[in-house]
Amino acid sequence: MTDITLPASLASTRERLHLALEQAGRPLNAARLLAVSKTKPAELIRQAWQLGQREFGENYLQEALEKQTQLADFDDIVWHFIGPLQSNKTRAVAENFAWVHSVDREKIARRLNEQRPENLPPLNVCLQVNISAEPSKSGVSLEALPALAREVAHLPNLRLRGLMAIPAPADSLAEQRRPFARLRHALEQLQQELPETPLDTLSMGMSDDLEAAVQEGATLVRLGTAIFGARATH
Ligand SMILES: *Cc1c(COP(=O)(O)O)cnc(C)c1O
Repeated sequence: MTDITLPASLASTRERLHLALEQAGRPLNAARLLAVSKTKPAELIRQAWQLGQREFGENYLQEALEKQTQLADFDDIVWHFIGPLQSNKTRAVAENFAWVHSVDREKIARRLNEQRPENLPPLNVCLQVNISAEPSKSGVSLEALPALAREVAHLPNLRLRGLMAIPAPADSLAEQRRPFARLRHALEQLQQELPETPLDTLSMGMSDDLEAAVQEGATLVRLGTAIFGARATH
C-alpha cells in the first residue's frame, strides 16, 4: 500500500515549517519536524522514511511497539514517545524509545531512569507542562516545574532536554502564542537555574498552531494530521 498524497503533504508541511521559521526571523534549521504517526500503519512510516523523515512520534505504547517490530530494519529511525505515561508502561518506553515528551512526575522519571538499559545512551526527556492550567489535563504545573526539573536533571540515565506542552485550543494567532511564550519563559528560567543541563528543546506546535509555536521559539514541532491526514478516532 502506498499513499499517493504523502509525498505532497510531507513536502508542503516542510515548506510550512520553513516559511514559519523565515517569518519568525529564525534559521531554517532552528526547528525539526517530528512526524506524529499514531493510528497510522507502519507502511506510511516506511514511506515517510523514504522521503527523508527520521523522527517519529507515537502515543499508544502497544501500537508503537508493533510498528517498531515491523520497521526493525530501519535502525536510524528516532522514536519519540509523546503519549500519556503511566507507571506500568515505563519499562517498555525506557527500552524502546530515544525520547519521551510526557514526563510530568518524579515517580515516572525515577522508573525510566532505573529501567533504561545500560547499553543505550541516556533517554532524552522533555517535561510536559500543563501550560493552560486545565484541571483534568496531564502535565506538571508551572509552579511545580522547577522542583521536578531539578530532580530529573540529576538522574544519570536520563538527559533532560526541555519542555513540552499541548495548550488549550485558541482562535487567533495572538491567543495561540501566549501559552507558548509562557513555556519559553519557563525554559529560559530553567536554563539559568540548571546551567549544566543541555536544555535545548521546546517541543510545541501541532498541525493547528505550528506558526504560533515557531514564533515563540519551538525547536521540535509535532505534526500528525498535516503530514498523514485525519485520524480515525482511536
Ligand atoms: C496527536 C498529537 C500530535 C499531533 O497532532 P496533529 O494535530 O495531528 O498535528 C502532537 N502532539 C501530541 C502530544 C499528540 O498527541
